Amino acid sequence: MTVAVQTLRHPFLTGKPKRLFIDGKWAEAASGKTFDTINPSTGEVLAAVAEGDAEDIDRAVAAARHAFTGPWSKFKPFERQHLLLKLADLVEQNFEELAALDTLDMGGPISRTRGSRRRVLGMLRYYAGQATAIYGETIENSLPGEYVSFTLKEPVGVVGAIIPWNGPLGATIWKIGPALVTGCTVVLKPAEEAPLTPLRVAELCQEAGVPPGVVNVVPGYGETAGAALARHPDVDKVAFTGSHLTGQKIVEASAGNLKRVSLELGGKSPDVVFADADLDAAVPGAGMAVFANSGQICSAGTRMFVERRIYDEFTARVAAFGSTLRVGNSSDPETQIGPLVSSEQLDRVTSYLAIGRQEGARPLSGGERLTEGDFAKGFFVPPTVFADVKDQMRIAQEEIFGPVISAIPFTDIDEVIERANKTNFGLGSGLWTRDVGKAHRLARGIRAGTVWINCYQAMDPAVPFGGYKMSGYGRESGKQQIEEYLNVKAVWIRTG
Ligand code: ADP
Repeated sequence: MTVAVQTLRHPFLTGKPKRLFIDGKWAEAASGKTFDTINPSTGEVLAAVAEGDAEDIDRAVAAARHAFTGPWSKFKPFERQHLLLKLADLVEQNFEELAALDTLDMGGPISRTRGSRRRVLGMLRYYAGQATAIYGETIENSLPGEYVSFTLKEPVGVVGAIIPWNGPLGATIWKIGPALVTGCTVVLKPAEEAPLTPLRVAELCQEAGVPPGVVNVVPGYGETAGAALARHPDVDKVAFTGSHLTGQKIVEASAGNLKRVSLELGGKSPDVVFADADLDAAVPGAGMAVFANSGQICSAGTRMFVERRIYDEFTARVAAFGSTLRVGNSSDPETQIGPLVSSEQLDRVTSYLAIGRQEGARPLSGGERLTEGDFAKGFFVPPTVFADVKDQMRIAQEEIFGPVISAIPFTDIDEVIERANKTNFGLGSGLWTRDVGKAHRLARGIRAGTVWINCYQAMDPAVPFGGYKMSGYGRESGKQQIEEYLNVKAVWIRTG
């Protein structure tokens, strides 16, 4: 395991502070303050970034409101479609640069961020395709007399989008795309850990011809800029992705004007391995269900339930698989596992490693921060498998957001369904079996927004993704997501 030391050259990193993007223009924060964003592989400062606050959010919301009622409101479906296709082309042309920016800013290995190409472009083109599929209905009513009743679908208005750091490019497109296709306007607050890619995407939106004020990006901290956006009286909807604790604050903040809210929150997803599964596929499958992106994926399958008679062998194989993965500097194309995003995240994950041990769980692999040589400068935790985990342990209940698997034995199918559901979360879930009957029973029995069978983390722009229980409400991707950005208006005409 090595960390390749690389000199960072990126066209977006000019050495000058990055500014806010409001009303089609770059702007300083009203306070004049900036914060540093760093490369988690090396600890180096990448850029100073303007630190947006309530006043900047006010400016951005005013721009978004003005844009919402301006020429943008006259854009026809074909025009919005054209714009999204143009944006997709620009993202495609600049993809290398965008992938590298995500890698530098949040630490996703370059092999992974490059690998998101198909999905990111697919999202934009999917949204473009939906532009002409937004329509109301003519509904027969039963009133005496002559009345025609029909519905219109209208954009919900100004959307406050608050995103996390674990995949900034994808998260930005996941919020901007549905807003553009429906005719909404957006104020996007990136995560303070990784604000760069959203700013670059805003620039590309402008290049694609998105009118000023339709897409605004205001980096800043959650408690200040994020909270100001969530409570803003002139924001019609908040689309939030992040932790459930922040999700609860967003819901409270939304009460002031009863704005619409969609929440994609955390998880503690079960991944169930039956003895009859294709274990050669399940070992890397269940491993990467957690190790990918260093475990910083909300739907990671972190509670790995393994049928008791294969428990020892299977968990040992997953641990051995994890140990073969190459941990290193994210910019190195050979790297499979990069660093955690920040020193705070490192503290959080290492505290759970200690908690796991104190609770009596047994690390089969990993289990300690890497500090040798250049690793000391970044925030590296290797793939870790804890065996002998009990359902009630904190490492089996709480979201760690690191490359840490809690391996738990089970005996029969009813028992595992019940235990898999004993969590406050319900985002993802997985199962590995060759028995179609078991697969169906689990698919119906597990209370989660997604069930992956003999795979994990498959995603598509047309397939809805979202949570049950404390993993949130609302869906991203698919027609369901488009609906979340629309209001339904009923229109009555008396014709008699
Ligand atoms: P994570 O643990 O993944 O960083 P958070 O929920 O803290 O998750 O962060 C996700 C996003 O929510 C970030 O953009 C962050 O700045 C923002 N955020 C954090 N606290 C608040 C808050 N009180 N109100 C609004 N947004 C917030």
